[in-house]
Amino acid sequence: MIVAAFLFGLLIGSFLNVCIHRWPIDESILRPARSYCPSCKRQIAWYDNVPLLSYVLLRGRCRACGASISWRYPLVELLNGLLYAGLAATQGLTPEAAKAALFCSMILALIFTDFEHYILPDELTWGGLAIGLALSLVVAVPPSLSSLFWLITESTPSPRLGSLAESALGAAVFGGLLWAMREAYYRIRGVDGLGLGDVKMAAMMGSFWGVGPTLLILLLGSLGGSLIGTAIIVLGGKKWSHELPFGSYLGAAALIVTLWGDRLFNLYWQSVGAGA
Ligand SMILES: [Zn+2]
Repeated sequence: MIVAAFLFGLLIGSFLNVCIHRWPIDESILRPARSYCPSCKRQIAWYDNVPLLSYVLLRGRCRACGASISWRYPLVELLNGLLYAGLAATQGLTPEAAKAALFCSMILALIFTDFEHYILPDELTWGGLAIGLALSLVVAVPPSLSSLFWLITESTPSPRLGSLAESALGAAVFGGLLWAMREAYYRIRGVDGLGLGDVKMAAMMGSFWGVGPTLLILLLGSLGGSLIGTAIIVLGGKKWSHELPFGSYLGAAALIVTLWGDRLFNLYWQSVGAGA
């Protein structure tokens, strides 16, 4: 089952590469249906388009023109395969695992479009937000901040309404928070520090997991981003105003929390318990 999940993940990863290449340059992901070489524009035969394997056999070059193929292609396929295998191993073939797999694939695409083009495509941010809200009706989003609302209003929602409310609240809280951070940064520094794409991406993540896990993602992403960003600026001699792909850090944190969020929460509570 884990091997099957890995292979399915490779295939979806291959499709993600098409999205990562085409969405930032406003090309359709459906037409042309067949992949083509970005350099010579010739169609790629199916046997040269097998995930991972073709890259190795062709030694990272186009068969027709010899142009080198970006290492991003096998990397995205491999990462997506590993994510699916990891989810199947820990959660089995459940609706929860399927939702997490879909989320991870969208996040992978966001990480790489942000890293390569500084773009977070609306297809993934707005589209992901809509999917997150819709899926909350099928797979329950565990209550966190929304339970406070029900407590205050002394009402008991149906499980479905409770889940949708947490999802919507997650989107509103984190979309709002990043929008406020973006405004504050602009007022103080006079330049954009956070893109509108980051705001939409935070709302999308909130809609999938609700307030609790998304807070963890944001904390991890900001911490990792500032540590690595500072290192790049110091070691690479770049200016402080250099725009860093915050979405990439946020995405990496989202993958970690999706796979190991429960364990991180347990570790946190244990350390709090040990300290008390
Ligand atoms: Zn070519």
